Amino acid sequence: MKITIIGTGYVGLVTGACLAELGNNVFCLDVDQNKVDILNNGGVPIHEPGLEDVVARNRAAGRLTFSTDVAASVAHGDVQFIAVGTPPDEDGSADLQYVLAAARNIGKHMTGFKVIVDKSTVPVGTAGKVQAAIAQELQLRGIAEKDAAFSVVSNPEFLKEGAAVEDFMRPDRIVIGHDNTPEGLKAYAAMKKLYAPFNRNHERTYWMDVRSAEFTKYAANAMLATRISFMNELANLADKVGADIEAVRHGIGSDPRIGHSFLYAGCGYGGSCFPKDVQALERTARDYGQELHILRAVEQVNNNQKHVLGKKVVARFGEDLHGKHFAIWGLAFKPNTDDMREASSRVLLSELIERGATVAVYDPVAMKEARRVVALDFSGQDEALGRIRFSESPMDALQGADALAIVTEWKAFRSPDFDQLKSKLKTPVIFDGRNLFEPQVMADAGIEYHGIGRSILTKG
Ligand code: NAD
Repeated sequence: MKITIIGTGYVGLVTGACLAELGNNVFCLDVDQNKVDILNNGGVPIHEPGLEDVVARNRAAGRLTFSTDVAASVAHGDVQFIAVGTPPDEDGSADLQYVLAAARNIGKHMTGFKVIVDKSTVPVGTAGKVQAAIAQELQLRGIAEKDAAFSVVSNPEFLKEGAAVEDFMRPDRIVIGHDNTPEGLKAYAAMKKLYAPFNRNHERTYWMDVRSAEFTKYAANAMLATRISFMNELANLADKVGADIEAVRHGIGSDPRIGHSFLYAGCGYGGSCFPKDVQALERTARDYGQELHILRAVEQVNNNQKHVLGKKVVARFGEDLHGKHFAIWGLAFKPNTDDMREASSRVLLSELIERGATVAVYDPVAMKEARRVVALDFSGQDEALGRIRFSESPMDALQGADALAIVTEWKAFRSPDFDQLKSKLKTPVIFDGRNLFEPQVMADAGIEYHGIGRSILTKG
């Protein structure tokens, strides 16, 4: 099938590359000339396991092209995926300007029937706005809707950064919302054909109305964020009452009604999705005169949790950190990605720098992105920037540090040589924001260990 992907970011590029892998002819559009140039010159602008191979194979086969040419992109795809960003607006609502700009572009150029797919995470009712934006452009062109019919479907994306290709190729579910107008049923048939290869083993598609599909994406992210904040709040209490949150996690996760997934206590969730989607759902509720009390608490707990490592550092080393030097392992918001949007590392780094410390940072893949993001976070603060060192390796970061703080649970950090680690640190202190290590093992190794919700074991 001929497919256009509008927005070649994490979701758009993975969607485009994976649909090309299945034999479709995919045209990826982006407004970012630099991104398109990288892709046309054989590169991939993001780190995502397996993506480079899929892109290279399909680009070489001529099934995957990249361009900034809007008219050509609209002409190409019978199915047009909108996969642009939906960042939070000032009031927390999803900013739909990029989605609606993409919709208007379609309306400005389309001729025959098109299926428009909202792949971006968008609030309930957005498909109606996309529909109206396209219809308005058609009207301005003096084209009757019957001569350029279209239908807007909702197909939210559930891939996880760091495992995006695998998730897209082997989805646990595909959610598609469509209406039952003649155009909506044509769109249903097109989507059924497009996703048929994913349903060979068993049916994975959940067909529903458009509004329910839009809602499903927010409900999923809200539920996951809730589990994390719930465990983080309990971990903080475990620290006080003298319980081990890891033991508690096993104890409750074995109940099949609860399950083991997504129950890890840590130093807060980040990324481009949970923070903004929780906010956007709260905002939607408020627009309808309802408060989502649980989600408000989830957000507050998470904002506080991003400071938990900073608080532990202050409790150990004091408010004034001038003359102190720290190492941070892990900058990406989670492993296997270089994405630093809303990453907890940025909060810790700011706190340490504001209190006068010097900091050496290291991440296995996010160093390039870290340089970009840190320069933005500390723009106009040259003295502060000068106190941040970008290290070559985990061990290099430790040299002369008063303590190590771990913020991202990269596999590469799980089994370090603790003798070497101790020999590099000035004082053998670890603040483990992801509970990577066992307190008893740390005690045996002569390392002062501060985990999340594990103080009973740390104190012995
Ligand atoms: P992103 O910022 O990585 O990519 C968006 C791209 O759209 C950018 O390259 C931008 O230049 C481009 N763009 C903006 N306006 C455009 C226009 N008018 N025409 C063409 N291109 C345009 O964003 P992302 O992380 O891929 O997220 C996209 C959407 O998918 C968001 O709504 C997000 O919430 C949702 N989502 C993201 C993930 C994730 O893990 N990143 C997972 C599921 C859903």
